[in-house]
Amino acid sequence: ALDKLFPRKTLGFFPSPIHKLERLSAMLGVEVWAKRDDVSSGLAFGGNKIRKLEWLVADALAKGCDTLVSIGNIQSNHTRQVCAAAAAVGMKSYTVQETWLEWDDPVYDKVGNILLTRIMGGNPIMGGYGYSTTEKDTWARALEEVRAKGGKPYAIPAGASDHPLGGLGYANFADEVAMQEQQLGIFFDNIVVATCTGSTQAGMVVGFAAQEKRRRVIGIDTADDEAMTRRAVTKIANDTSELIAAKGGKRVVVRDADIEIIPDYSGPAYGLPSEQTIAAIRTAAEMEAMLTDPVYEGKSIDGLIDMAKKGHFKGQRVLYAHLGGAPALNAYYKAFEDPEN
Ligand code: PLP
Repeated sequence: ALDKLFPRKTLGFFPSPIHKLERLSAMLGVEVWAKRDDVSSGLAFGGNKIRKLEWLVADALAKGCDTLVSIGNIQSNHTRQVCAAAAAVGMKSYTVQETWLEWDDPVYDKVGNILLTRIMGGNPIMGGYGYSTTEKDTWARALEEVRAKGGKPYAIPAGASDHPLGGLGYANFADEVAMQEQQLGIFFDNIVVATCTGSTQAGMVVGFAAQEKRRRVIGIDTADDEAMTRRAVTKIANDTSELIAAKGGKRVVVRDADIEIIPDYSGPAYGLPSEQTIAAIRTAAEMEAMLTDPVYEGKSIDGLIDMAKKGHFKGQRVLYAHLGGAPALNAYYKAFEDPEN
């Protein structure tokens, strides 16, 4: 329905598929399904930013911009998807690639996401340190550089999150889920989703709140900073709700209780997996051939498995939102090295 209120540039194959994770469900004694936003775009392995960027790229094209400028970690899935979207619509991209963590490996800045960005003809600018979703001068400088060269930049913040249109993609995801539920004749009581810069969960909160039957959207924090994540999700949910209402869509009230953030699976730090993260990644891979990464989805699947084992979802159905991220696995090969194999 949001298509009728806002311009959208198709960059993915939507609706993304939903399927039951049969073996994981049997092991956990809980019905677990996955919605596969990791396989919902042909653009360089896709992921959740493609869904968000459909609305930002439409805006960039309408404004006559020719270059997308964004920022993320060296192994950012987001900057890889910005570069992919730019390539697919014939724009340029500049992406500031920061060092957010101490993953000490000689190929960390060479393989995985950053490699794909280089192959797609992106302009990664290496530099900057420290995780934060606030504006950075490196990003401002990149925007200035594009202008100085006579280009017209379109600014996309980290994760395409704190942007007026950042929440639309996942508000629309909620409509997609409702349509698929109708086709399947089932209802998902819980959505489990990795959360970091916030607009994925925020969009979902707004989209699902507009529906008659309420359900839980459970954000598994990956920023390892619950307060920061909560602030981001709350702000973007409120902004998105306002924006949709201003365009004539349904006005929803975002209550504090709607923003559920679980901090228990984010350690030891942003971008660093715990032993439990790695074990969960192996479980999803061994039981479902479903690949999850050590930065985001490994933590959310860990949360889902652990919460299910602790009885949180008894008698209920769970939908795991798979947001992509597997290209980063290459940079984390060390976490999976087995001395016997
Ligand atoms: N999962 C993956 C694979 C991601 O790349 C990201 C990006 O940050 C997230 C989850 C978190 O989404 P968001 O930043 O919208 O909270």
